[in-house]
Amino acid sequence: MSSDMEKKKYTIATLASHSALQILKGAKDEGFATCAISLSGRASFYKRFPFIDSIISIENYTEFYDREKELKTKDFILIPHGSITAYLGPDYGNRISIAHFGNKEVLSWEIDREKQMEWLKKAGLRVPKVYKNSSGIDKPVIVKMFGAKGGSGYFIAGDKKQFDKKISKFADQKFIIQEYIVGTPVYLQYFYSTIKKSVELMGIDRRYESNVDGLARIPHNMDDEFSVEPSYTVIGNFPIVVRESLLPEIYAMGERLVSASQKLMPPKGLYGPFCIETIVTPDQLFYTIEISCRIVAGTNLFINGSPYSDLTYGIPMSTGRRIAREIKEASKEGRLSKILD
Ligand code: AMP
Ligand code: AMP
Repeated sequence: MSSDMEKKKYTIATLASHSALQILKGAKDEGFATCAISLSGRASFYKRFPFIDSIISIENYTEFYDREKELKTKDFILIPHGSITAYLGPDYGNRISIAHFGNKEVLSWEIDREKQMEWLKKAGLRVPKVYKNSSGIDKPVIVKMFGAKGGSGYFIAGDKKQFDKKISKFADQKFIIQEYIVGTPVYLQYFYSTIKKSVELMGIDRRYESNVDGLARIPHNMDDEFSVEPSYTVIGNFPIVVRESLLPEIYAMGERLVSASQKLMPPKGLYGPFCIETIVTPDQLFYTIEISCRIVAGTNLFINGSPYSDLTYGIPMSTGRRIAREIKEASKEGRLSKILD
């Protein structure tokens, strides 16, 4: 570690869930002190891991806000992930005062579906058709309730009649009607380095979703015995390697998303880890269904590196470790303000 970092003794901290093990292991590999902020019931689980130097126990997620004020004085850097947005609330960025890795302004673009769509279109990414209301439904659609977590609260409708029947269960809820894309889900995990000014592909995965991935195991001649709506609750992830000929387009998509963000959210735009969630059709077109502007849990597959990170680094480089390395390099160059918010 550089003398500047030793002097400062930065501690990388995160909420103990989602991708915390990967983030803290990566931080330790890069020479940082590490801290997990854990619900008290899970603290003994996190104590098993020697790369976690300290654990702050909280009784519930709202206590995080009281405790983080203590951390501000101790050179802590908070790494956001999916549990932070899910449990501290989408406005957590306005409520915390400790150093945060990532541009908080990007959060408002990620959360608001209309703003996200504007960003995707500016980046030239292909998106499924969105129907303003049910009268235009002319092909199968997927209907997503706002705030539905992990894909539960979604349903599929083949036509308007089916939509009208199914929507009646969700009275007074806000939703979006999207063209259903038949293809394969492919989740692209990237890292944009402000220091190197380059987009890196960290890995590719797909989700293992309950019950939709179980429905395929029911033999067709038993369809009558089961009449279940598919749900999309994520349980885990599978690794993917794609046809090599798709890689140039994948890199270009990541670069366009970053470049559009720099115009929409100047001057910093999107940096650090992000994910473009796509469905790829048989004619090899990528349809973006969503983006996540932080580390995604699918990167946990690659704690020891992925085939793609290996091509770039030649050493085991997880997304968690990549974040720590970016902080280390920015610190060495006196450019931490470029990556902390
Ligand atoms: P958890 O801390 O496991 O309750 O998850 C927090 C948030 O991250 C929830 O919105 C989950 O749906 C999401 N999440 C957790 N694990 C995964 C995963 N493996 N893939 C995608 N999303 C995940
Ligand atoms: P999301 O919460 O948007 O990431 O979606 C959860 C899951 O729903 C995805 O992993 C896909 O399996 C499925 N999904 C979402 N949008 C679409 C779409 N437009 N067409 C087909 N499948 C979709």
